[in-house]
Amino acid sequence: MCKEQRRNGEKMPQIIDGKAISAQIKDEVKEQVAALKEQGKSVCLAVIQVGTDPASSVYVGNKKKACAYVGIESLSYELPEETTQEKLLSLIAELNGKEEVNGILVQLPLPGHIDEDAVIRSIDPKKDVDGFHPQSVGALCIGQPGFVSCTPAGIIQLLKRSGIEIAGKECIVIGRSNIVGKPMALLLLRENGTVTVTHSKTKDLKDVTKRADILVVAIGKPGMITRDYVKEGAVVIDVGIHRNENNKLCGDVDFEDVAPVCSAITPVPGGVGPMTIAMLMYNCLHSVLL
Ligand code: NDP
Repeated sequence: MCKEQRRNGEKMPQIIDGKAISAQIKDEVKEQVAALKEQGKSVCLAVIQVGTDPASSVYVGNKKKACAYVGIESLSYELPEETTQEKLLSLIAELNGKEEVNGILVQLPLPGHIDEDAVIRSIDPKKDVDGFHPQSVGALCIGQPGFVSCTPAGIIQLLKRSGIEIAGKECIVIGRSNIVGKPMALLLLRENGTVTVTHSKTKDLKDVTKRADILVVAIGKPGMITRDYVKEGAVVIDVGIHRNENNKLCGDVDFEDVAPVCSAITPVPGGVGPMTIAMLMYNCLHSVLL
């Protein structure tokens, strides 16, 4: 599902339409949730937010909206900033024990006095719809069923549903975070890509990235990737989300500069961003089916 664009007489690449693809996935989930309801089964996600960080509140609000759209029940736990780790862990233990709760999501980042790793580990892996639990990551690593981190899982969907072949392709990932870069590399490998992961200590980064047929950029540096990092005809996936000096959303890729040299590219906004929540809905559905 791609749009072709032509600008100033210059041939522009396929614009990979994350808005349309995420809407398609949410509609598929909605249908399956309705089918489950007919069999008397419901899907329920518990969302926990600690504190009132405005960005987190927006993400949590969007997740609840998506749940309402697809017919997944959402339970909301808004805890004060000063909530102790013990209290949070005890809430998670309670939700782990509730049969009617299928998925548990703790919005990150957590306040500094709470150990995020301990919180992630405390979630029952069967309810780990974010795919951050070490057991979920291990399952991905050895090719067993389990939840997969939503953003990289969404990128695989963007590629597949845009008709972009991964098998045999040279796939370069910039960034090695636990939630994007590393699971991205494992998923591309699972799809039979030839995968290289790069990071801040990579030498001659441009020489490496210029080999990519598929370049996934998850650096967290606005507009860092210009056309000198990109091979002619490459597919470029931009995970970054930032606000520029004019308060406009932008990615890690300098879109205007890179688009004319690649064959397909994700825009920001409207590329990877909407996929994360769509895949969360997919994971919630699969928490019942797994
Ligand atoms: P992190 O900050 O956790 O990781 C950034 C990675 O980029 C690190 O591995 C780091 O290397 C690497 N890096 C930093 N600078 C350079 C450089 N100059 N050259 C090469 N590599 C570099 O970020 P995340 O993975 O969490 O997120 C990346 C971006 O994606 C952010 O903009 C974030 O907002 C966005 N994001 C978007 C999502 C969405 O839904 N669309 C979801 C999640 C994230 P090292 O390990 O050596 O430090």
